[in-house]
Amino acid sequence: MTDAPVTVEAALLDAITVPDGTGKAIPDAASGETIGDAPIHTVDDLETAIAAATEAQRGWAALGHAERSRLLHLAADEIEAHAEELAHIIAREQGKPLNGAGARFEAGGCAAWIRNAADTVIEPEVLFEAEDTRSELHYAPLGVVAAIGPWNWPALIGVWQIAPSLRMGNAVVVKPSSFTPLSVLALVELMNRHLPVGVLAVVAGNRDVGARIASHPGVAKVMFTGSTDTGREIVRSSADNLARLTLELGGNDPGIVLPGADVAALAERLFWGIFINTGQTCAALKRLYVHDSVYDDVVDALAALANSVPMGPGTDEASLLGPLSTPQQFAIVSGLVDDARARGARIVTGGQPAPELGAQFYRTTIVADIDDGAALVTEEQFGPVIPVIRYADVDDAVARANASEQGLGASVWGDVDTARSVAARIESGTVWINQHGTLNPTVPFGGVKASGYGLEFGAHGLKAVAAPKVITV
Ligand code: NAD
Repeated sequence: MTDAPVTVEAALLDAITVPDGTGKAIPDAASGETIGDAPIHTVDDLETAIAAATEAQRGWAALGHAERSRLLHLAADEIEAHAEELAHIIAREQGKPLNGAGARFEAGGCAAWIRNAADTVIEPEVLFEAEDTRSELHYAPLGVVAAIGPWNWPALIGVWQIAPSLRMGNAVVVKPSSFTPLSVLALVELMNRHLPVGVLAVVAGNRDVGARIASHPGVAKVMFTGSTDTGREIVRSSADNLARLTLELGGNDPGIVLPGADVAALAERLFWGIFINTGQTCAALKRLYVHDSVYDDVVDALAALANSVPMGPGTDEASLLGPLSTPQQFAIVSGLVDDARARGARIVTGGQPAPELGAQFYRTTIVADIDDGAALVTEEQFGPVIPVIRYADVDDAVARANASEQGLGASVWGDVDTARSVAARIESGTVWINQHGTLNPTVPFGGVKASGYGLEFGAHGLKAVAAPKVITV
């Protein structure tokens, strides 16, 4: 890398990459240029990391909550001190723009979620108390947690898995997506400047490493975020090691716009609920049901934004939308739009690649007059495309929203009281009203149905990475 121009992230990249040609060349999602070579760890490396984590975990647990929290705050300070470098790595590797709810937001979120895990206190709960007996519920460490993550928010989702696990006294071995190892290697490098050796390790291998980590007898818990299909494989793996699981799987979030909704006031939030991270977000709005009376207004407002919000390379300060992260995802998105077009849906704007920006760019696309049976509606598109489906009756819209195997998030747009009653009937882990996809480190997040089980964030998230233990005196 000696001839490469000096970049903002050069020093951090030097710390995490291996010499050219000795690892996996990781491309910039926008330009295709190699950012650096990620190490290719093997199953043997995984064994070493799990053995070291098992050894280090006892000492880590013995430090106690206050000391672990102090060290986690130091890790958050380190991330903040290097936030710009981390953001540039994310922007290049994953593709999300630096600005908006993009790479700088992701880097900042890493520090914020670590601090929240460090500061949330879990007290023993008194379950029963009588004159001569008292039962308390304590939360003990589990041991080694395996954290397996996706490529769409690689560093932030890594933190969601790592920070609560460490806080509760576990050691963590992380297996990043093979598409985005650099963002996770950078995150772990920064955190490890303050953590005892062995407590947090990253093993950047291929699928064989993923399969082994999930079934490893030394792993007590698997935190998995990724697709529903892989989630099912993780469940099968856990039959052997009986690892506890938190499964944050795919989403195909519906949104329902009610009659009477103030479209002009809501349009921008609706747009970003759909297109955050260029649509590559688990809990982004992916199917929009709009009442007949406001249908044209919603389609027009979304199309106007789609035509004006700038798309470009993640490292371009002007960009607010970026490329698809991978060639595979680009092919999925193009295929779904082509299929919708062939079924007679109306492409209001977009509907084609943007090769002048780069090979993995697809224009922001609004698809109208589409039926529920189209693959673009039934499958998770994970890209800058939204199907807008017309409805006449709210009960019918609720039924169609629920007619999905996924149940991660959902949203209802319009009068708040009416929206609350609709929200109560939607099958999902979260229902947002007049917003979509907003997350808060103190508010639990998780799915139902094929979107998985278990909760992350806040006190619920900490308890999910601990073993409930009753002490009766
Ligand atoms: P993926 O399932 O392809 O991969 C996720 C991770 O699992 C990767 O690290 C991969 O290497 C690893 N893996 C693959 N096979 C494995 C196996 N047999 N055993 C163990 N690990 C294995 O998912 P992806 O394409 O990286 O991510 C996109 C998906 O993730 C979308 O469906 C999205 O909705 C979902 N997602 C969900 C959430 C959530 O919180 N619910 C958040 C982000 C993404």
